[in-house]
Amino acid sequence: MAELEAVIGLEIHVQLSTRSKMFCGCAVSFGDEPNVHTCPICLAHPGVLPVPNEEAIRSALKIGLALDCEIAPRSIFHRKNYFYPDNPKAYQISQYDVPICGPGRLGEVRITRAHLEEDAAKTIHVGASGRIHGSAASLVDFNRAGTPLVEIVTEPDLRSAADAADWARLLRETVRQLGVSDVNMEEGSLRVDANVSVRPAGSTELGTKTELKNMNSFRFLQRGIEAELGRQREVIGAGGRVEQETLHFDPASGDLTPLRSKEEAHDYRYFPEPDLVAIAPTAAMLAEARESLPELPAARMARYEAELGLDEAQARLLAGDPEQAGYFEAVVAAVGEAAEPRVVANWVTGDLTAALRASEDAERPEAGPLADLIGAVASKQVSHAGGKQVLAILVADGDADVAEIVEREGLAQIGGDDGELAGIVAAAIAADPDAAQQIRSGNGKAIGAIVGAVMRETKGRADGGEVNRLIREQLGM
Ligand SMILES: [Zn+2]
Repeated sequence: MAELEAVIGLEIHVQLSTRSKMFCGCAVSFGDEPNVHTCPICLAHPGVLPVPNEEAIRSALKIGLALDCEIAPRSIFHRKNYFYPDNPKAYQISQYDVPICGPGRLGEVRITRAHLEEDAAKTIHVGASGRIHGSAASLVDFNRAGTPLVEIVTEPDLRSAADAADWARLLRETVRQLGVSDVNMEEGSLRVDANVSVRPAGSTELGTKTELKNMNSFRFLQRGIEAELGRQREVIGAGGRVEQETLHFDPASGDLTPLRSKEEAHDYRYFPEPDLVAIAPTAAMLAEARESLPELPAARMARYEAELGLDEAQARLLAGDPEQAGYFEAVVAAVGEAAEPRVVANWVTGDLTAALRASEDAERPEAGPLADLIGAVASKQVSHAGGKQVLAILVADGDADVAEIVEREGLAQIGGDDGELAGIVAAAIAADPDAAQQIRSGNGKAIGAIVGAVMRETKGRADGGEVNRLIREQLGM
């Protein structure tokens, strides 16, 4: 049987961090006492009228522009009808055939659309312990009802669970940097659903998809998709057919269970919302949204790879964190010609990150001192091991002077032409004739013992490559 390839699309709900809700003046909140941010509009009292939140529209425009979407000159709201306790109007105001943001792209993945809608209330299912009059019950908190959402829908362009999780991370960083949402998955301000199917590799037709709902971390998203791909491959391998359904992934057990879903009756009877006029962004609104866009992770990543020669992993790591990226660029500027940007990236994402984690009191040094240190190591005035010792002092005392630390701690690299290092190497060889004999007879690993002895003697102030070279030279190899 032909290999079955994965076909994955994502639907992401982004809760906007506007001050007020989508169609009323109630505060957008998380974690407050239940049912304190409510009013006749978000509780759907008869006769009330919604008023759209302009800030939410501006936020949706920023998201659309960041995702390279076509912005609709005129988009409208629809009513999506369904009955559920979290939905007091018995319909959700959403967008249907004319979303505010049309086709776009982020990285390798095409965006189908991004539209504005309102969030539902939160239902809390109380089990046996919360029984009311003897039966299990559900409680409803309307604080969330009417919170502005942007729903982003992708084309099924992802081909593995790991790619889906990576892309979702890129999307989160992109939205975070726009400053329009907290994008906190645990608190539900970023919610990711995945549409998953398989098909014979090379086929262009789509298989039957299932929908995985509301995974609240990228790790669970990846594991959930992996589990569902495995299940579908098994079903098809056994000659069965995948049923279209909505599934819940339980990260603790790894089980996939069908959801008793409010979407089972698929007819939402969409019709245009008669109480709202069309959204028609003015040229000024669009220009303002465009001008407010920062350099976004995908663009920054491409620039780091093309202009600074970073590899993809380094570029992704730095571009995903604007604060760290800004610091990295400041160090690159301060280092100038003394070291490659690639080397600076290694220090910033590797040794510096480790040094900062090593102590609670550690503080990131100014760009200048770190640049001095990188330059000193690159020019072999200080060994890499010695450089780490300097770094430990720098993170403890941010504005310290690198040359002074090197001098004070006696960390200047031993080597060069004065013969001191050669003498230490000769002594180490003489002290360990067994190892020397083994190296001579071709046991390359034995050199480690002598290198180690030299490093101990020099307290890490020697360059490992130079020590290796001297040992081989002195053993006549
Ligand atoms: Zn309200």
